[in-house]
Amino acid sequence: MDGLQNQWCNLRLSEEEDASIVLEDVDVSVVKSKGDLSLIGKIWCDRQLGKQVVESTMARIWRLSKPAVMKEVGKNVFVLSFATHADKERIEAGRPSFFDGQLFVIIPFDGITPVQALKFDAAPFWVQFHNLPLFGMNKEYGVKLGGSIGSVLEVDVDHDEVGWGSCLRVKIMIDLKKSLARGRTCTVQGTKVWCPIQYEKLPRFCFTCGRIIHENSTCQLEPKATPQFGAWLQAESSFKRKWESLQEHNIKGGAMNNRVMQE
Ligand SMILES: [Zn+2]
Repeated sequence: MDGLQNQWCNLRLSEEEDASIVLEDVDVSVVKSKGDLSLIGKIWCDRQLGKQVVESTMARIWRLSKPAVMKEVGKNVFVLSFATHADKERIEAGRPSFFDGQLFVIIPFDGITPVQALKFDAAPFWVQFHNLPLFGMNKEYGVKLGGSIGSVLEVDVDHDEVGWGSCLRVKIMIDLKKSLARGRTCTVQGTKVWCPIQYEKLPRFCFTCGRIIHENSTCQLEPKATPQFGAWLQAESSFKRKWESLQEHNIKGGAMNNRVMQE
């Protein structure tokens, strides 16, 4: 499609071809209401996947109230139309999604940009920063550390903006074409400290270069004698701080429990 688009620059257009057809005046209310219930997703997989297999597999994984209707609009690119807003919002909030271990990048519905021009090269991940001193486990440091990797969407802290725990969790929009960050070097009172990073829910990625997607579909690097990336980047467990629900629980006289395991 890029080729066809580029060809336009070299063509001498006839008067009819060059006359611009304004699409804004078309009644798009039906499209808009459908778009409000929709998301767009791309599964990063070299082989072409069958729509029906994707549809039935994802309905099972997502546990939807009613199956989402998928329309294939490009190679492994689907418009996902959900039956309810609740389903749509839950799937969007629960990203990243996977199909058979491959990343299913899901982005908001965009009815304006041509499908071929949509970008699927970033996805949100919960990232755990380990080996931090307690004073560094707060929202401010989460934004600082997370910001060195990608744009920070959320820092998992309590209402007082403190996130004490076995690690600090930050939700970050990750550039999928960059090697996964394995940690950050921090200076604590003049001493350098290595803070390793682990990711909650990782898709298959390249252990040679650490990328989730390759620009040229295959890796351009020679494998190193000592592997630089591996399954150790995957967090053993994920947890979510839920102080609001905890508070509610405590009001009812429940036991103190700071951590609620997720899945
Ligand atoms: Zn690679």
